[in-house]
Amino acid sequence: MSLEGARERWVRTGGIELCVAELGDDRQPTVVLVHGYPDSKEVWSEVAARLADRFHVVLYDVRGHGRSSAPQPLRGGFTLEKLTDDFLAVVDAVSPDRPVHLVGHDWGSVQSWEFVTVARTEGRIASFTSMSGPSLDHFGHWIKQRVRRPTPRRVGQLLGQGAKSWYVYMLHTPALPELAWRGPLGKRWPKMLERFEKVPAGDYPTASLPSDAAHGAWLYRDNVRPRLSRPRADAYAHAPVQLITPLGDAFLSERLYDDLEEWAPRLLRRTLPAKHWVPRTRPDQLAAWITEFVTANEGREAGLPAQGTAATGKYADRFGGQLVLVTGAGSGIGRATAFAFAEAGARVVAVDRDAGSAARTAEMSRLIGSPEAWAETVDVSDEQAMEKLAEKVATEYGVVDVLVNNAGIGLSGSFFDTTSEDWKKVLDVNLWGVIHGCRLFGKQMAERGQGGHIVNTASAAAYQPSKALPAYSTSKAAVLMLSECLRAELAGQGIGVSAICPGFVNTNITSTARFAGVDVAEEKRRQKNSARLYGLRNYPPEKVADAILRAVVRNQAVVPVTPEARGAHLMSRFTPKALRAIARLEPPL
Ligand code: NAD
Repeated sequence: MSLEGARERWVRTGGIELCVAELGDDRQPTVVLVHGYPDSKEVWSEVAARLADRFHVVLYDVRGHGRSSAPQPLRGGFTLEKLTDDFLAVVDAVSPDRPVHLVGHDWGSVQSWEFVTVARTEGRIASFTSMSGPSLDHFGHWIKQRVRRPTPRRVGQLLGQGAKSWYVYMLHTPALPELAWRGPLGKRWPKMLERFEKVPAGDYPTASLPSDAAHGAWLYRDNVRPRLSRPRADAYAHAPVQLITPLGDAFLSERLYDDLEEWAPRLLRRTLPAKHWVPRTRPDQLAAWITEFVTANEGREAGLPAQGTAATGKYADRFGGQLVLVTGAGSGIGRATAFAFAEAGARVVAVDRDAGSAARTAEMSRLIGSPEAWAETVDVSDEQAMEKLAEKVATEYGVVDVLVNNAGIGLSGSFFDTTSEDWKKVLDVNLWGVIHGCRLFGKQMAERGQGGHIVNTASAAAYQPSKALPAYSTSKAAVLMLSECLRAELAGQGIGVSAICPGFVNTNITSTARFAGVDVAEEKRRQKNSARLYGLRNYPPEKVADAILRAVVRNQAVVPVTPEARGAHLMSRFTPKALRAIARLEPPL
């Protein structure tokens, strides 16, 4: 998508002609998107298109980039002071009466930090969203602190960032970068972005890339050394800041932002499992976070705390505003998981075959912190119903960012007591339910091409055999293997898959689990007994929910939860014979 339908204008400042594009209604709040290196304003095309419904979106080619003219001479023409002149000229032209919401990526963010921390822009910036580009002043102080008071950890951080900054040293060498960019590097760059950064092929980067990159080398040469060696002492942000940190950034360490609250007290942190070029690879997520932050800070008096999310949960930086669908969300582990995501500010779709309990989970999720939550009544084993659900979710709520296939039922009883009907029921829900979920929602995730995560609730029974649970354990072993295979298949698309394997967790499953080969009275007695034993064990589903969120954040493959599940996992690897001996024991029911 290029900047289709954009209105263009030229802004003159200090002998430079800046090419400015505008989208959307100019009576709406203005969002100014500043591009990085080596880029032009088109890097924002996907994000701009998504913001244009709600906002007046403004993009400009930084001097020397895209269609804007370059300073003569180049040396000294790209100082942060001059870039601030340009920014002010653009905002005076596009939004003379109202402050703008600033968004910067890479060098667009580096220069935006200057804009938001110098006195002459005060009152002109309503909020700032920064991604992958620190303030050079903050960076300078970060280095100084670590050099002056070195500890092994701080030295490690310095070396880590030093290694990631290799390209900055290269760009300081005279003439060579220009030659490379105008020659082989410029030609190969689009393929390199595709291969290493997973940037989708298309009309980006634009044809101006070689000259953007050659001119842009002066951004580094004019600013990096002087600012890092003499950082400003007063580089405090005068607007609320939203910091979006891609966790897989090859050029910047997360640690750079450790002390950022000192400089930007009204700070909202977000993290993304993505590489550096997020405007190309994660436009939906960026547009959602920018929309939320701009809306929360629009028209607010300067000085009030930053708003953007009511969520305070442990993982709010990661899941705030994301769409999470949980099956079996009406009870136990599913409900606790829905609540944990709600606490982190996610939008939750609570799916259960029991309408009332799904509705209660959705209602509670809204109270806990979900900006939006919905209940859907579906039997996960019903393929057609699942197809309908997937269609509805995609059209009404969006593509799911995290899918938790958790619905499951228990079945106990020896192999010969387990009828084919019993087998069918347990496999239909525990295995087919997961297959339908992965196939339908996983496909939407993959087709969107912006990453995501699938969590499947297996069980310790997946790797711990037992003569009492042949059907249940088989269904869970299948879920575990399905998760591993899918994980391998989706790895290249930024979609993680985790299998969660709890041991004994105190939920309703004990009172609904079936016991094959016994009459109703005996079944009731065993259900009561197992409920009592699970109650005595008393491992709360909230802890499993916490493990689920952690598994997504860390992209873990197989996660045994509870000490007995972890123990059995180790035994299955190192002493499988002992595990087989335990499998022969009579269950204590
Ligand atoms: P639970 O009975 O408390 O909750 C399960 C929920 O799933 C219920 O709300 C139920 O209505 C719903 N459900 C069942 N079948 C469904 C279907 N066909 N379609 C839609 N919803 C359906 O049980 P729980 O302990 O929270 O179990 C959740 C998952 O965790 C299950 O997959 C279970 O096998 C697994 N698990 C549980 C334990 C444990 O000890 N509780 C241990 C390991 C694994």
